[in-house]
Amino acid sequence: MTTLTGIAASPGIAIARAFLLSSERFIPVRQSVSDSSTEIARFREAVASSQTEIESLRISTEERLGADKAEIFEGHLMILEDPDLIDAIELKIDEDTMNAEFALYETAQTFIELLQSMDDELLRGRAVDIEDVCGRLMSHLRGIPHMDLAGMSEECIIVARDLTPSDTAQLNLDYVRGFITEVGSRTSHSAIMARSLEIPAIVGAGIAVQQIAAHTIVVVDANQGILHVNPTDEELEAYRALKQADDKRRAALGRLKELPTFSKDGKQVELAANIGKLEDIQRAIDNGAEGIGLFRTEFLYMGRSSLPTEEEQFTSYKYALEKMNPKPVVIRTLDIGGDKELPYMELPKESNQFLGQRALRLCLDRQELFRTQLRALLRASRYGNLKIMFPMIAVLEELLEAKQLLEEEKQRLLAEGVELGEHIEVGMMVEIPAAAIAADLFAPEVDFFSIGTNDLIQYTMAADRMNETVAYLYQPWHPSLLRLIRFVIQAAEKEGKWVGMCGEMAGDETAIPLLLGLGLHEFSMSAGSILPARELIGQLDQTAWCSHATNTLSMRNSQEITQFVQDIIKGVTHHG
Ligand code: PEP
Ligand code: MG
Repeated sequence: MTTLTGIAASPGIAIARAFLLSSERFIPVRQSVSDSSTEIARFREAVASSQTEIESLRISTEERLGADKAEIFEGHLMILEDPDLIDAIELKIDEDTMNAEFALYETAQTFIELLQSMDDELLRGRAVDIEDVCGRLMSHLRGIPHMDLAGMSEECIIVARDLTPSDTAQLNLDYVRGFITEVGSRTSHSAIMARSLEIPAIVGAGIAVQQIAAHTIVVVDANQGILHVNPTDEELEAYRALKQADDKRRAALGRLKELPTFSKDGKQVELAANIGKLEDIQRAIDNGAEGIGLFRTEFLYMGRSSLPTEEEQFTSYKYALEKMNPKPVVIRTLDIGGDKELPYMELPKESNQFLGQRALRLCLDRQELFRTQLRALLRASRYGNLKIMFPMIAVLEELLEAKQLLEEEKQRLLAEGVELGEHIEVGMMVEIPAAAIAADLFAPEVDFFSIGTNDLIQYTMAADRMNETVAYLYQPWHPSLLRLIRFVIQAAEKEGKWVGMCGEMAGDETAIPLLLGLGLHEFSMSAGSILPARELIGQLDQTAWCSHATNTLSMRNSQEITQFVQDIIKGVTHHG
């Protein structure tokens, strides 16, 4: 058996034979033609057949997966109508009297190379679409069917360099059990599609993928990001048992999807999702999110060449609010700077970017940028349950100024007769130790806190969250951090305010019992962690964990604390 690793893109375990999706591209030979008009007619026929094919793919994808997943094919149809590309091919056939295949190949290559060299991620993505559409055109010109993924007839694991959008849309789900790709990341198109189709998938497994022979048995353990090729009979038996247990667990979790979250002794908490893009909302809903606990709006500003307008932002916020309504959506104002750059804003280089003019600091400095976002948020507020959250607050004055600007924009819109939501909660992230230590001073001024442990840990430990060499200091379970968290919750409770957490720690199964014990009200995490967290919380006794958590505050280090938690969870000590 050979074992390979990659990125776990869509969870689950799959076992089947490998179906190799050839990524070899046909390279045509240049031929001179005497009659370029016949050649152009042949090319136009290929365009027409491709249009019909893509249109039917668009319709079937919309039926199976919804309009947003079918959108990609609208883009493909637009490429077929794009005069820059299509006219260029026809011109080449005509002027250079060459065969349609070669004119298509050469022109497409020029477009693809140009787009691939761009900095803009969206434009680079367009290169994939052009490659996909031109591959289809080439198949039609050659009179051979486009790789018939829909026509497969036995269970398989697709093994490919990458899967194009039309490959994924054509997968026959009666037979495809999982897939593995050589390239890609958690956010690549194939990964996103796998999650929405709920097919176990590992992406970015590297060049070793090419060594997988057709029809060999492959085990895809997409919970761990590991794949096993050619297991022995005994290994296969073990994996089948593991798969059965995993499928059972997953099916059981599905039953928790529509349910609220209660601890064993009846304490209710809320499990929400962190999102960056609008596409993430459906996943949050599918995974039983009770709200959005963190909408990182900076993603609306990224991957483009200028600031999003008020109207563009309004449309995005309205969409999110309507889609989740009446569930809450906590939208965080722009958190740019630090590791998140916006090339077109030309932010000054700082010697220590995480301690520089980041997030709200920048927004208070560039008020027009901030006011645009606030207006878009306020205008969207009547479409759902909006909560506005300010990031990176260190001192009270920053909070008060942000609130003041919000109030000014609110009054301006009201004076213009714009209808706003009735009660918009306003909260802040607690991610700087100064704010955590003085949480009692902030609590009267907010409706809620959301603890951002990703930053709170780095600032508490003075350990850059991106720096591998100090990763040992990045300790979510350290008593110093747990004490801060407890203080923030107690300070909020005194004022009758709620506290959430939207850092990665909130979805961590070792942290959840302690956070429940410390009295956290809302846990916001990546969508895939929600159902396992709901199941776990249902098995925990909140009252007991309240005293366990208090015990951990006087322990000496993270190791003692994590060991203590794990022992109780496993039921091997008498504390539980
Ligand atoms: C955090 O700091 O915990 C957080 C959620 O914000 P981000 O990861 O976007 O900095
Ligand atoms: Mg942060």
